[in-house]
Amino acid sequence: MNETQPAVTSHEATPRKRLHVITWGCQMNVYDSGRMSDVLAPLGYTAADTPEGADMVILNTCHIRDKAAEKVFSELGRLRRLKEATGGHMILAVAGCVAQAEGREILARAPYVDIVLGPQTYHRLPEMVARASRAGGAVIETDFPAEDKFDHLPEQATPQGVTAFLTVQEGCDKFCSFCVVPYTRGAEQSRPAAAILAEAQRLIARGSREITLLGQNVNAWHGAAPDGGTWGLGTLLRAMASLPGLLRLRYATSHPRDMDVALIEAHRDLPGLMPFLHLPVQSGSDRILTAMNRKHTADDYLRLVDRLRSARPDLALSSDFIVGHPGETDADFAATLALVRSVGFAQAYSFKYSPRPGTPAAGAPGQVPEVEKSRRLQALQGLLRGQQDRFNAACNGTVMDVLFTGRGRHPGQIVGRSQYLQPIHITESASLIGEERAVRIRDVHPNSLSGTLVQERLSA
Ligand code: SAM
Ligand code: SF4
Repeated sequence: MNETQPAVTSHEATPRKRLHVITWGCQMNVYDSGRMSDVLAPLGYTAADTPEGADMVILNTCHIRDKAAEKVFSELGRLRRLKEATGGHMILAVAGCVAQAEGREILARAPYVDIVLGPQTYHRLPEMVARASRAGGAVIETDFPAEDKFDHLPEQATPQGVTAFLTVQEGCDKFCSFCVVPYTRGAEQSRPAAAILAEAQRLIARGSREITLLGQNVNAWHGAAPDGGTWGLGTLLRAMASLPGLLRLRYATSHPRDMDVALIEAHRDLPGLMPFLHLPVQSGSDRILTAMNRKHTADDYLRLVDRLRSARPDLALSSDFIVGHPGETDADFAATLALVRSVGFAQAYSFKYSPRPGTPAAGAPGQVPEVEKSRRLQALQGLLRGQQDRFNAACNGTVMDVLFTGRGRHPGQIVGRSQYLQPIHITESASLIGEERAVRIRDVHPNSLSGTLVQERLSA
């Protein structure tokens, strides 16, 4: 799943109490931050743009790579000073996967933190706030509760905008050798279809035109169907596609093993399902894929890509790669480069393997030296960047559908996304925000495209 820049949830501020949420990590964390704000709204919390002087600050963390805990402690040091400036009044909460994995350590090293909560317990936030305020001591909630948090969350209070995220599935049972998700997010769980469709309808009623269904392994979703049976993601997407007012559908992140026939057929049959799929492969070497416990080969992946492209010829692909997994040789890495050349990606994320405490790969023999990981990452990113540049260059002069999402950075400019998630700028009225229009691409920039409305060009 794509990582986002650190983001801040922001709403209109007519505060009785001011809440500032700092979000690190994936789209699921962005969604969770919104839901934590919703849970706290009945207590009078409204969003603050900055942490200075806030009544409560939540740091929603990510544990997937790198020095996650170090980063959290350094940010907590900064927040401690802000808390002191409020005379200790500010409630400081650490949420997300670092909280889940390092809860006790956080309270030991940062005793000024009031609440530590894991991703499965944020529906209990009001009670935790009450306990923290009353007792003055720290509250820790990092269990995996028996109740489903989605059954206890209020309806979304704040509109997400033209594009919205909707979590349909959480947790993972796949236990890839390198990954903390099964430990921090727990076992795989799917929300019922009726709850998802109702949430989607509310999002559409509040102006969302594109919905991305989210899950750690979203295509493993198999939820209770309205008729009492069980649906897979392909059927859910068909039901979503029939919702009036919804123009675009996406889903992330998928595992190649869970790409079933119904889902491939949904790509064939649903024009609103965007022809852009994030399908992480991690490595092109069968030896490393086995060591990673991915349960598919490079050839399985290539054949899957062929089937998807036969179903939807304009489909473009994105992926995740890890270089330097324990045991990876030059020959294994060469196999990854070969897979990349063979598929041709429109975009991709690539990472140096980062040992995660408690995962099987962290203690495995054959750890790859850092300098070698860096060399391989540079080579892989060079290849992927070239493919991305060629994909973007091929868009020049073509007409692309663009869903406009907001104002651009320059006066008079608006920005939207192509079907392939490329940012596209045009100079047009902001009244087009929320609409999908055909745009002739006139220029290709390193990370975006620009163009003009097709009607404008034809009438000129
Ligand atoms: N469920 C998705 C899948 O099966 O591919 C991946 C979700 S994971 C949250 C997002 C990405 O982070 C992974 O695809 C992987 O490339 C990367 N990642 C996870 N653990 C990592 C680690 N220990 N070191 C480096 N990258 C890692
Ligand atoms: Fe992590 Fe593997 Fe599960 Fe993806 S499938 S979330 S990489 S354990």
